[in-house]
Amino acid sequence: MPIRDIVDAAVSRGLSGVSLTDHYDFEIPEGVKSFTFDPKEQASEIEKTIMELPVEVASSFRILRGVEIGMQPQCVEDMARLVAENDFDTVVGSLHFIDGTDPFHGNYYLPYGYKEAYGHYLETIWKCIDKFDGLDILGHYDYIARYAPYPETTIYYSEFGDILDMILKKLAQNGKTFEINTKTYMPFGEREPQFDTMILTRFREFGGEFVSFGSDAHDLGRVGANFERFIPIVKSCGIRYSVHYEKRVAKPELL
Ligand SMILES: [Zn+2]
Repeated sequence: MPIRDIVDAAVSRGLSGVSLTDHYDFEIPEGVKSFTFDPKEQASEIEKTIMELPVEVASSFRILRGVEIGMQPQCVEDMARLVAENDFDTVVGSLHFIDGTDPFHGNYYLPYGYKEAYGHYLETIWKCIDKFDGLDILGHYDYIARYAPYPETTIYYSEFGDILDMILKKLAQNGKTFEINTKTYMPFGEREPQFDTMILTRFREFGGEFVSFGSDAHDLGRVGANFERFIPIVKSCGIRYSVHYEKRVAKPELL
């Protein structure tokens, strides 16, 4: 999407800024579209867009430079290098590819029932964040439930609490942010994954303080989608702050 169009969509929805977190994946599975970008080009596009904004928009709206790194346990060194070599405002760490497959295309699920499929995904997130400290935000922890073939559409704390606790504790103790990715909680055909508030409640219990809101838009119609819906849900879990990052420094705001 042209950045200017994203800004216009965000302004019309009452947002005061956007953090553009383009995908950057490593070791892309065969036959899958490559998601990488040139960070320098991203920076110059943002710069150019800011210069061309009307003064009243430019003075009150922030465009921040981010990346959504596709984490994989065997790519930790590449991930760290990407972060070290670029001065991003925000680094989101997400798991898109697992065991050489892209769950979006379905192969990942074939050998598994939902417990193994979701559980192994969470274990792999753990393996990544255990070795990689360069993220500010953990992105869509339940991405794996979006495109799954099972009637069980939701990752519940009651079923996956042991591995979720390891992830949540690590994030909380290192001051990281938990993303509410609103795209996951929309209908996918007949399925509509739910957000289990117990997971966020546990994050708070471990000392976690911040959430970020991500619409994972990929198209203009979904920029900032459903943020309002999730604010009271987040507050009901004891979380007081949403956060964005500038030059990797958390900027919390009371919800
Ligand atoms: Zn993602």
